[in-house]
Amino acid sequence: MEIYNTKADIQKALEKLKQKGEKIAFVPTMGALHEGHLTLLKLGKEKADKVVCSIFVNPTQFNDKEDLKKYPRPLEADLKKLEDISCDFVFLPEVEEMYEENELWNFDLGELDQIWEGAMRPGHFNGVTQVVYKLFTIIRPDLAIFGQKDFQQCAVIAHMIKKLQMPVKLLIHPIVREKDGLAMSSRNVRLSEEGRKNALIIPETLFFMEDLFKNSNLDLQDIKQKGMKMLQDSENAKIEYLAICETESLEERLEVADNEKYVILVVAWVDGVRLIDNLLLN
Ligand code: AMP
Repeated sequence: MEIYNTKADIQKALEKLKQKGEKIAFVPTMGALHEGHLTLLKLGKEKADKVVCSIFVNPTQFNDKEDLKKYPRPLEADLKKLEDISCDFVFLPEVEEMYEENELWNFDLGELDQIWEGAMRPGHFNGVTQVVYKLFTIIRPDLAIFGQKDFQQCAVIAHMIKKLQMPVKLLIHPIVREKDGLAMSSRNVRLSEEGRKNALIIPETLFFMEDLFKNSNLDLQDIKQKGMKMLQDSENAKIEYLAICETESLEERLEVADNEKYVILVVAWVDGVRLIDNLLLN
């Protein structure tokens, strides 16, 4: 496994492979790696000749300074996990390597930046497009793999690739869950033992709503109300948002329409930790 800290060094190493015609898959991460990240990387190994993982806790996508400060950074353990799955390249830049001072970036995401994560975390997706654009330009991957766990982020990246006509194929991997259903997340380590148990109400609500969608005649707004009630009744999770949305526009839908696909989007706070999850309904 080759580890690089500078743009110039990793570009030089990857250039040699590209000249030989090798295909490169890329998985950007913020570290604190878990089985979700590793599954994406393993898929990268299957789909391309070499897989690159970047670990960079990107400051421009944190709208909350405390969250940035508290973000876990277990670098040694991360590198061991990457070795164990035979990751080929790791890009580990410092903030100064990625950003000039007071750098400006303004990428128009339209409605996508006004709803759900965009509304709750102002500037978040601007920071995401800023860093992913830079990483794509440095790595120049043939294939980039993102997780469905961050559903809206996938839509944002797809939008950017299309708008800038970037020569990279986007692959979305389904959510990797713990055995009990909780979506794997780097933030889960911040949950107390009690909080970890309480967090289960989030996937339980999603599966309950899925069951209603498939096995009842209830309309979307009633399914949403029942999901809301389940979360509220648990008293251990504070809902930030819960909605059933059309999968492309991410606009909320209250009734089923022909030929539409739906995703339930949810964010809830448990034990002072902000947890995000989603579920595709059809
Ligand atoms: P992060 O380090 O949180 O920025 O995540 C890096 C990538 O891993 C993103 O594309 C995430 O969507 C993806 N990811 C994180 N957790 C999961 C999970 N439980 N299942 C699938 N993908 C995930």
